[in-house]
Amino acid sequence: SKEPIRVLVTGAAGQIGYALVPMIARGVMLGADQPVILHMLDIPPAAEALNGVKMELVDAAFPLLKGVVATTDVVEGCTGVNVAVMVGGFPRKEGMERKDVMSKNVSIYKAQASALEKHAAANCKVLVVANPANTNALILKEFAPSIPEKNISCLTRLDHNRALGQISERLNVQVSDVKNVIIWGNHSSTQYPDVNHATVKTPAGEKPVRELVADDACLMIVLLYRLNGEFISTVQQRGAAIIKARKLSSALSAASSACDHIRDWVLGTPEGTFVSMGVYSDGSYNVPAGLIYSFPVTCKNGEWTIVQGLAIDEYSRKKLDLTADELSEEKALAYSCLS
Ligand code: NDP
Repeated sequence: SKEPIRVLVTGAAGQIGYALVPMIARGVMLGADQPVILHMLDIPPAAEALNGVKMELVDAAFPLLKGVVATTDVVEGCTGVNVAVMVGGFPRKEGMERKDVMSKNVSIYKAQASALEKHAAANCKVLVVANPANTNALILKEFAPSIPEKNISCLTRLDHNRALGQISERLNVQVSDVKNVIIWGNHSSTQYPDVNHATVKTPAGEKPVRELVADDACLMIVLLYRLNGEFISTVQQRGAAIIKARKLSSALSAASSACDHIRDWVLGTPEGTFVSMGVYSDGSYNVPAGLIYSFPVTCKNGEWTIVQGLAIDEYSRKKLDLTADELSEEKALAYSCLS
């Protein structure tokens, strides 16, 4: 039987953590035949709640769960981990300036970078969920220079999945028949959900989303309008809509998409399918190198590759640049917090 994989979840006593740890323990993240040892890290004020989550994990008697480390000690939390899902972060509170939130998170991610660098397993894969996710991931990368940049990523898969869900609802097709949407850029309201390359499986074969109603010119115009206008803002504003409805932020879907992100990264994407991941830019699509930017990627043998050669129209180009500009600004702000 397989050796257990150690998975760290920071902020594990929080909302997303509570939804995420049972998914990991059930094999949703790493496969139904892959034993896991969960490392749950949180801060001292959350220690008691964390212990409660640990008790529930014991009570759930998950066959794949071979051990639980619940701790407020960063070194203990990071030791030997093969996968690290960073959910813990300082939340934006009312009246706080963007710079104050950034400053808190920069110091958290700087400290956690050092702990991971020193104590995690070699080749540990890191996924940052906590906001500002792209910039937190960038800080982590900078302060853990021995962790290869290809091993550090941030979550935009929730936005990606939201886009798939919206297309499925609007075209009245199964979500499993829709693929290859792209989230470009920042995990923020400047992100660009791009459906230009998305397809839907139909009885007559795979069709581009944009051509699905091409036999009716009028409908086509309506759809185009919606995809460029209302669709984009729905995906961008979905988080706020869920908070309004639930009085709590989206935790189930965030946790589920974190599992999708790691699963595809480790086990590979299906042939012909790409997914969105926030990764270190190498300058592809003229995105400034050195930002953590969400790109379309395929994964194989535990490594992601940015999908190359997709046509970018003028409208999209502007959107790609706008979100890159925001990330460059965030990067500068993060650095100003360091000095
Ligand atoms: P959640 O579990 O709801 O959210 C955790 C983080 O994920 C937040 O930064 C949140 O950003 C981010 N996030 C990213 N995508 C989404 C999404 N789609 N929906 C919701 N959140 C998203 O927060 P809780 O407050 O319940 O839990 C946070 C935990 O972190 C607590 O247990 C706390 O003790 C711990 N913590 C750890 C710190 C540390 O490591 N030093 C510091 C502070 C807290 P956003 O804020 O923008 O919603």
